[in-house]
Amino acid sequence: MLKRRETRTIKVGRVIIGSAAPIVIQSMTKVPTIDIARCVKQINQLVRAGCRLVRIAVPTCADTAAFAKIVQKVSVPLIADVHFSPNRAIEAIEAGAAKVRLNPGNIKNRKDILRIIDAAKMHKTAIRIGINEASIRDLKKQAIPLQERTALMLKEMKKYVRLFENRNFTQLVLSAKSSDCLRTIEINRLIAKVFNYPIHLGLTHAGLPEDARIPSAITLGTLLAEGIGDTIRVSAACNPVIETKIAKQILIALGLYERSTPALYVCPTCARAQIDVIKLARQVEKALCGVPVKRGPVNKPLCIAVMGCIVNGPGEAADADLAICAAKNKAYIYRNGRKISVVQENKIIPALLKELEKL
Ligand code: SF4
Repeated sequence: MLKRRETRTIKVGRVIIGSAAPIVIQSMTKVPTIDIARCVKQINQLVRAGCRLVRIAVPTCADTAAFAKIVQKVSVPLIADVHFSPNRAIEAIEAGAAKVRLNPGNIKNRKDILRIIDAAKMHKTAIRIGINEASIRDLKKQAIPLQERTALMLKEMKKYVRLFENRNFTQLVLSAKSSDCLRTIEINRLIAKVFNYPIHLGLTHAGLPEDARIPSAITLGTLLAEGIGDTIRVSAACNPVIETKIAKQILIALGLYERSTPALYVCPTCARAQIDVIKLARQVEKALCGVPVKRGPVNKPLCIAVMGCIVNGPGEAADADLAICAAKNKAYIYRNGRKISVVQENKIIPALLKELEKL
């Protein structure tokens, strides 16, 4: 189990963030906020996919009015995403936002930031100070050399945190994002060293899902493996349910998220394969869908392996709780590295499910 960084713990509605609390997956709605029915539908889809917090953009007064209604219709704490307008932030807080995501650099008047802090205090609303590389660049009205950007982001973060703390407000989550993997890693390491607030991780503008998946996994995965990160969002130009699934895969890979079905290992296949491994693996994946996760002897989720041959298959799958090792028109089934039966190709799935029941 990875050792997490110790932080303050923050309450976002009923969700605890920080330290030993489970890492929270969040995403954003991508339908107009004023379309309340669609928004609620998408929030419910995100909750089913694994989101424990959902963020909603509230650019207009009509959006914060809709936000107030949406809060009443969903089971998950909502975060209002605010840019530039202090009034939107205060309206969202009064509408029942559990957290507000704010970039103080976008709110020019210090008095306005203090008004937001006071409203958040009164309503027990958490605030995420979210800065990103692009806004740093805008602030200075000039391009900042790459090597100076993280230091400048840290400086900005220090300034904002001081402002909140001087107002006795500590229900903070911090985030600093860039679309660059290495700079996102670097700035979050710095923030983790300097502050003890929970950190929200994300790689911004990561692209289409097929492009966003790997950079997000590398960036978030590196930081999470170092114990940094208390909430995560994968940003990709796609349905937010897909973002959530990618986020879940990152956490599962690091042992930071409980699987809901047994793990499936599949050999990459090669010229030795005696069966269509990919087709079989898809069939097994479908068969495992809805099979409740059981825990093996060393208290880890069960693992099922699909291997294309008996040359390397049994050895490679020796750690699997059940392994299918294909031969010509048939397959051998192994349990914990021991051969237990041989079945015809068309009987593989029922035989596997039967063996699964015995575990
Ligand atoms: S298990 Fe067999 S078929 Fe699969 S990659 Fe290894 S050698 Fe090739």
